[in-house]
Amino acid sequence: MTDQCRRTVLLGIGACCLAAGTGVAGPGQAQDLRALAAAQPLLPMPRLTRAHGLVNLSRVDTQQSEVALTFDDGPHPLHTPRLLDILAEHRVRATFYVIGTQVRRFTEIAQRIVAEGHELGNHTWHHPTLTGYDDGHVLSEIDRTQEVIWQAVGHLPVTFRPPYGAISQRQSRMLHERRNLPSVNWSVDPQDWRRPGASVVAQRMIDGARPGAIILAHDTHGATVSAVPEAISGLQSRGFRCVTMSELLGWGHWGPAAARHEHVAQPRSDQRGPVIPDFAG
Ligand SMILES: [Zn+2]
Repeated sequence: MTDQCRRTVLLGIGACCLAAGTGVAGPGQAQDLRALAAAQPLLPMPRLTRAHGLVNLSRVDTQQSEVALTFDDGPHPLHTPRLLDILAEHRVRATFYVIGTQVRRFTEIAQRIVAEGHELGNHTWHHPTLTGYDDGHVLSEIDRTQEVIWQAVGHLPVTFRPPYGAISQRQSRMLHERRNLPSVNWSVDPQDWRRPGASVVAQRMIDGARPGAIILAHDTHGATVSAVPEAISGLQSRGFRCVTMSELLGWGHWGPAAARHEHVAQPRSDQRGPVIPDFAG
């Protein structure tokens, strides 16, 4: 991590505290942070999301026979490594919508996810239902998670998945406007959390697939992980290729090798502007 990166991350942490109203900084310090925030972006921002104007989506409009496998709520200390072994064996890339607190606990697994070519997405810090939250608390959930992922793997998620799929249109627009993050739900839900058994989960994933489908699953359930080999084989036999969210969106490979964010050293004069903390929260 470069000095510039460290600085933006540290400033971002200060902004989160302010946005969440936790008040760790005194009035003078808060003023200093505001002055710094005006001069510096607090976090590097995903850039492609703004360019494509995506606010929220549950599938991608494409004629390609591609689907995105997405796994929520990890990293899990047992099930995620087993899933990674399976994905490697089948040479399939997936997207992991990780929870910030889990990344903090299981940082090495998050690093392995990225090292093996998969994508990380933001799934909040505490996994709350966001619809009852004010904007400051929503941004705090998102920013803390962006930061812990940034610190773990040196790369920022470019998509966000609301816990339980629960987010208002206004909140999605707010996140798009302030953090360049589209809210990504799903078009195929095998309801694996109800524990219907691995073969049922696999069949639901296969049957629901269409071009551009986003398939929801959870790498916190052993039976879901056990369903993955059958699901991949079934999808492939129907002619589908399993890709990451960024690939499904046509943004190419997500990861350290391909910059999906930008650092801006000075305030910008264009319509985007630097990321400014939400002091109203
Ligand atoms: Zn979740």
